[in-house]
Amino acid sequence: MQSVNKKSIKMKFGTKAIHAGIKPDPATGAIMTPIYQTSTYAQTSPGKHKGYEYSRTHNPTRTALQENIAALENGKHGLCFASGMAATDAVMKLLKPGDEVLCCNDLYGGTYRIFTEIYQELGIRFNFVDMRDLTRISKHFNKNVKLVWVESPTNPMLNIIDIKGLAGVAKDWNALFVVDNTFATPYLQNPLNLGADVVMHSVTKYLSGHSDVVMGALVLNKDSLQEKLAFIQNSTGAIPGPMDCFLVLRGLKTLHVRMQRHCENGRRIAFFLKSHPKVENVYWPGFDEHPNHDIAKKQMKDFGGMVSFELVEDSIDEAIRLLEKFKLFALAESLGGVESLSGHPASMTHASVPREERLKSGLKDSLIRLSVGIEDVEDLIEDLERSLA
Ligand SMILES: *Cc1c(COP(=O)(O)O)cnc(C)c1O
Repeated sequence: MQSVNKKSIKMKFGTKAIHAGIKPDPATGAIMTPIYQTSTYAQTSPGKHKGYEYSRTHNPTRTALQENIAALENGKHGLCFASGMAATDAVMKLLKPGDEVLCCNDLYGGTYRIFTEIYQELGIRFNFVDMRDLTRISKHFNKNVKLVWVESPTNPMLNIIDIKGLAGVAKDWNALFVVDNTFATPYLQNPLNLGADVVMHSVTKYLSGHSDVVMGALVLNKDSLQEKLAFIQNSTGAIPGPMDCFLVLRGLKTLHVRMQRHCENGRRIAFFLKSHPKVENVYWPGFDEHPNHDIAKKQMKDFGGMVSFELVEDSIDEAIRLLEKFKLFALAESLGGVESLSGHPASMTHASVPREERLKSGLKDSLIRLSVGIEDVEDLIEDLERSLA
């Protein structure tokens, strides 16, 4: 058993979540990957070591996690970072002044910020485009576009972008295609299989799953790109510590089970809200009438646990009144944990976006975003029902 090389076994998702990259500790046989809380490793002679020299470069707990996340995304290489933003930052360091980046127009706020406030200052140009319909996307490409960056589903409008369709165009133009797969997770969607070059994750969210770690990851196939990104990871040093890697390894073992429940509960809540007289629009890619429902059905296994909605009485005050009444949906930034959370983009994540701009992207004053947890859904619905009454 100990000698079995798990890499040689064909594993389905749930088995990979528990076994990929994990082997009994060679020193003791410990089944769980130990927390190698060490910065350095003894060498028998200068340069003679067991593959580990210094923990910025490699750490066995991190190696196990990187292999596990790579396996879940059907990728060859995984790299973990101190946060999702650090993972994004590493990708941006592949670019040079004069390069252009084509992005979808409703990006995670922190991604928008690093692009416009840091990398634009360094001479990289960004073009933010509505990518829900790709029929005219080619006109946004030119030979300077070196990177295409999208999220699907997007935050907080739950828009869906055709990843396979966009991958084809990006390839024609020789642009590196990155998908932030944080909302979908590898359980629901595998962008590398759809033609993406790199998958980025805020591991902080569903992968960790317990709201107790901040971490990021990249997964990719190409060896030459892996060499460059591993060089950046080691040179700039935004790596996660072994304790956090251990916590995420523990969280990942239940990713498939958690996601099933997130999806079930998300579905129940989306339909509940849709039938409520005080609720105007509900945004959830599982509805037949969602504009890109067919694409969502094709590229995702299910529709996830994120649901956004607007109130009939569309005002910031009305939304705040409702949010203050919730007892189970804690009002907080972040998402993807086992516990349900609520958020108000207009006054929280998107407060810095001018109202006109916000409305243009369809984000109304009363829009509320729910990260539906894995509690008993009847209790969640009762919390919503009581608060809406
Ligand atoms: C949270 C988040 C990020 C940033 O990740 P951090 O771990 O907070 O640095 C990036 N993209 C999406 C979609 C996110 O939700």
